Amino acid sequence: MNRAEARIDLARISENVKHLKNLSGTDVMAVVKADAYGHGLVEVARAAIDGGASALGVALLEEAITLRNAGITSPILAWLVPPGSDFKSAVDNDIELAASSIIALEQIGSVTSKNRPRVHLEVDTGMTRGGFLSEWGKLDAHHVANIDIVGIFSHFARADEPDQEQNDQQRARFKEMVATLESFGYTNIVRHLSNSAATLKDDQSRFDMVRAGIAIYGLTPDLENLGSSESLGLKPAMQLRAKLHLVKQVPEGAAVGYGATAHTTSETKLGIVAMGYADGIPRIAKNVGVFVHGRKAPVIGRISMDQFVVDLGADSTAVSGDWVIVFGDGSKGEYTADDWGAASLSINYEIVTRIGPRVPRIYAHHVY
Ligand SMILES: *Cc1c(COP(=O)(O)O)cnc(C)c1O
Repeated sequence: MNRAEARIDLARISENVKHLKNLSGTDVMAVVKADAYGHGLVEVARAAIDGGASALGVALLEEAITLRNAGITSPILAWLVPPGSDFKSAVDNDIELAASSIIALEQIGSVTSKNRPRVHLEVDTGMTRGGFLSEWGKLDAHHVANIDIVGIFSHFARADEPDQEQNDQQRARFKEMVATLESFGYTNIVRHLSNSAATLKDDQSRFDMVRAGIAIYGLTPDLENLGSSESLGLKPAMQLRAKLHLVKQVPEGAAVGYGATAHTTSETKLGIVAMGYADGIPRIAKNVGVFVHGRKAPVIGRISMDQFVVDLGADSTAVSGDWVIVFGDGSKGEYTADDWGAASLSINYEIVTRIGPRVPRIYAHHVY
């Protein structure tokens, strides 16, 4: 018996991938970094491939190797592999690497393996984070002599604000950098620029492949600017639920939790939810809560490490041991990962990604 669980509908992951593939009309790389945004790396990778993803994207080399060890044979790109990493393991395991510096190319090129290294050049088109910028003009044939350059990519800073000019500038810069590479004879490489937001809203940036993360989990990249999951044709795959450790009657004026930051305003029933900030429930969350017996019950007082308190209302029928939904797809009236993001000055990405390892992931085909 679990006291809390993240229930993940893998069929929805497959459907979301299929939807993005149809919508974009191009290949989809399913981004499964950070334990597949908290949904479970290997299970999600398989579901994404079932849905038609042609490649997998991860940040870390360890994530890529975990996928290979699980028997997954699809192309895998790892893009946060700094100089000094075990590039030989990457090449031996047929893992494609992103490179954004000459030193990285030199180290990747010096690997001895049965495989030739396969590299995607990451270029900085205006986000000013990863990618070649000042070194771009210094790149030379000898830097890539022992490497197969198989792709070129960049990343948008503001694709969740489709009207921002920076998107057009980044796309234009990307095209220039692609043209430079093509002028050196690299004409058969995979060009990719779009994240989920651009996949959904920018039909000029799809090139040969899109890299979709948050959208394959059925979540909107930005509720305000891009609309709800539902309006985007996406189905949230995760439902987070927890047990009521205790339901009890309390009088008016009771000081609740650490710091006595909240008091009951009338006699009521409180529920103690068996999850806390150690499980990824944000300590600063305000104006949010859980869903139980058909209605919302708001958080009252501070979130603790392993538990938090909700006001069930005087006439609640909930009892100790009942399940409450912390967030879900919203279809029953429950809170969503978007609500929890807004309630903690954050975004749905951080809510799902930070659900801790103490919370078992349960895979079901009909969570909802
Ligand atoms: C995380 C990441 C993505 C996916 O972004 P979403 O907004 O979740 O779609 C794509 N590309 C790169 C380089 C990333 O780091």
